[in-house]
Amino acid sequence: MTDQTDLLQNAARRATRYLDALPQRAIWPSDAALAALEGFVEPLQREPVPAETVLARLDQLGSPATVASAGPRYFGYVVGGALPATVAANWLATAWDQNVHHWAGSPVGAQLEEVALGWICDLAGLPAGTGGAFVTGASIANLCALAAARHALLARLGWDVEARGLYGAPEIRIVAGEEVHSTLLKAIALLGFGRERVVRVPADGQGRMRADALPANSGPMIVCLQAGDVNAGACDPLAEIIPAAHAAGAWVHVDAAFGFWAIASPRHAPLVAGLGLADSWATDAHKWLNVPYDCGLALVRDPLALQGAMSIRAAYLPDDDRREPSRFGPELSRRARGVEVWAALKHLGRDGLAALVERCCEHARRFATGLAAAGHAILNDVVLNQVLVSFGSPERTRRVLAAVQAEGTCWCSGTVWRGQTAMRISVTSWATTKEDVDRSLAAILRIAAEQV
Ligand SMILES: *Cc1c(COP(=O)(O)O)cnc(C)c1O
Repeated sequence: MTDQTDLLQNAARRATRYLDALPQRAIWPSDAALAALEGFVEPLQREPVPAETVLARLDQLGSPATVASAGPRYFGYVVGGALPATVAANWLATAWDQNVHHWAGSPVGAQLEEVALGWICDLAGLPAGTGGAFVTGASIANLCALAAARHALLARLGWDVEARGLYGAPEIRIVAGEEVHSTLLKAIALLGFGRERVVRVPADGQGRMRADALPANSGPMIVCLQAGDVNAGACDPLAEIIPAAHAAGAWVHVDAAFGFWAIASPRHAPLVAGLGLADSWATDAHKWLNVPYDCGLALVRDPLALQGAMSIRAAYLPDDDRREPSRFGPELSRRARGVEVWAALKHLGRDGLAALVERCCEHARRFATGLAAAGHAILNDVVLNQVLVSFGSPERTRRVLAAVQAEGTCWCSGTVWRGQTAMRISVTSWATTKEDVDRSLAAILRIAAEQV
């Protein structure tokens, strides 16, 4: 065996030991593990250090200081784990070290992206040939999709925004819901539209954009909708708003970072009915599809709009008719993100994906039922995988949340949703079982009872 083989087998042993221990350990690292991170703080030495030593140090100091978010009882933010099939695919692809800028950089990377993209469009009822970019996450997917919208709307008015910029360009009106995700507003800011120029449409009690409050249009407009509110899991009434926005000549974008995957479940697909009518979509694979970080997708019905915003030419780069990955996204060099997406979908199949989504939603309802039975207020309609619970006053809710996080059985995050302080429970991992929910629920209820 070569040194390289020994090293990589050593890494695999350490990684599997880490994953095997994950269900038993506290979710948040211990104070000792956090203090030990100081061990990394040192001047860079002059001489090389053997790779085995580097790996051992990383494992000894690093592994205990991780958040056990890959484990089954992490319900913070909207995170998701990583299916073993995708971790394995990721390891192999890391060994490949492919650069998927063009097909010429990685035929396999380009091929798997194209296949995965086709499967996803098919699943979601999007037209074949929809433009797609594999990016770092929904933040950049929102950015790419809105850049495509900007390109297309201004091109229709004879303005080449990539060449001329926004100074002096016709104004585009940007419309978004009251509960729009903060990363969408960041994308709007990055694209030069100006956060403060966004017309915010009021939401109903669940945080969904009110269809009756959509502003009338007078010129180019982008309407930004949401499927899967980051707090409540609520989805805007897409089937109602998209046709109305289209009738007003608007480009419709849907931020569906995790809500997108509801489409895979017959039971939950009605929540996102109309999704396929939009002009562009942003979604994450690293959340509910359970692939390793980082991976998201920008999807644009008109592939030429996305290419118009993203495509570059250079004498040293291939110039052909293939679906060249870098013509659709912001990056040139990047890792083969399509590999894990392909592996997740290939492994799960349509039925496995539906089961994953439905299991998470069922777990969320189980949390809500158990908490409500104990007299705690559930603030949202639990329509998807998100539960918002209040333990009374904001102070008490914050105390319970802090105690839950410190106790270690499970980990939830907090929020203020429509004026109410809440603990958020997001069930997004393939690994979570009913037993994990019951164990977490018991811990939360015991802790809440202690916090008077
Ligand atoms: C998580 C999320 C985002 C941001 O996605 P990242 O993957 O963190 O970049 C955007 N919109 C919504 C609705 C989200 O849930």
